[in-house]
Amino acid sequence: MTTLCLPGEATLGVIGGGQLGRMFVQAAQSLGFRTVVLDPDAASPAGCVAHEHICADYLDTAALDRLAGQCCAVTTEFENVPAQALERLALASVVAPAVAAVAICQDRAAEKAHFAASGVACAPYALITSAADVQAVGDALLPGILKSTRMGYDGKGQVRVRSRAELAAGWAALNSVPCVLEQMLPLKMELSVISARSAAGEIVQFPVQQNLHLDGILAVTQVPAPGVSAALQAEACASAARIAASMNYVGVLCVEFFVLQDDSLVVNEMAPRPHNSGHYTLDACDVSQFDLQVRAMAGLRLRQPRLHSPVVMLNLLGDLWFDVAGSLRTPPWDQVLALPGTHLHLYGKADARAGRKMGHLNITAASAPEAERLARCAAALLGLATEW
Ligand code: ATP
Ligand code: MG
Repeated sequence: MTTLCLPGEATLGVIGGGQLGRMFVQAAQSLGFRTVVLDPDAASPAGCVAHEHICADYLDTAALDRLAGQCCAVTTEFENVPAQALERLALASVVAPAVAAVAICQDRAAEKAHFAASGVACAPYALITSAADVQAVGDALLPGILKSTRMGYDGKGQVRVRSRAELAAGWAALNSVPCVLEQMLPLKMELSVISARSAAGEIVQFPVQQNLHLDGILAVTQVPAPGVSAALQAEACASAARIAASMNYVGVLCVEFFVLQDDSLVVNEMAPRPHNSGHYTLDACDVSQFDLQVRAMAGLRLRQPRLHSPVVMLNLLGDLWFDVAGSLRTPPWDQVLALPGTHLHLYGKADARAGRKMGHLNITAASAPEAERLARCAAALLGLATEW
């Protein structure tokens, strides 16, 4: 039986108070839900906008009980939330996605096993949990990327290795934690697909987005994906739907893919939540990824989202807050917002640091070339890379 949380009456909660939690809270509030955030940071982006901020550790059982006790449903904004926390919440509230699905996404080894079980190919890889595993790795996996199985994000916990000697050194540099070694694939481009699935098994998907990463961090997302055939888009969507359905997923799920030089599709990884590559949905679609996250957890009907404008999303990292001399500056928002079709989203983080996600800029237009042109103008004003 599906629990129904009623707009205008019920309370929805989120564990984790970063920008994804903040945009979840804003979407929930626009439907009239009361919102509660659990996050240990007194100045967390989501805590600042929620009706209530429970400022406590994720493993504080009294805090977890206070959250679950008042919520019709609770979700998570990051996959590294301790499993015990979600289990505790589930005693008193609907938790979506469920702990079992989040557990798969927390561990690259479990995630790859799930991809295989769903019939979706990933990069050739080997598990590295001992020095013997390092020696036993097949030559075909080198050069490769060594990734810790747990706690990696934005390229952290990853080392690129060309030889067995570099692999041994790289594993030591990652403190010999359990890792996967993936073959370095010849990437033509990167895509992702955002799906939302309800407890009743209804699945809806946003159009495929094409992503550019710089230094392991997402930099630009474009929709419609300019370099992806309709057949490849359909294949990516079908694979993402199988991956979600085969773990009985409830909520918003992002699946990242690589397109190889030979145009074959390989799954990279997934995130059990809205994703940075889906931020374009806030301004280019008639429902956003956060709206669907709210609907899925609340037991409301999902609705097939419609892209109403071609869009380019530029990620705004903390680097933009420093001039060439390294002094703090305010990026030229007035000039950027003077361009047509610009939608600025800042997350309310007080301290800018290099590589820190501070906000994003969506640029919508009547045509894809126009969105691209305006995005390049905005990027030039901000001092971002303009070639993509
Ligand atoms: P995030 O959480 O930000 O998505 P992450 O830290 O989990 O990132 P991955 O998605 O595994 O990291 O990898 C980051 C980027 O590194 C990828 O988007 C891709 O550009 C590159 N990359 C990762 N694995 C491979 C591979 N096997 N072959 C080639 N490039 C790769
Ligand atoms: Mg990734």
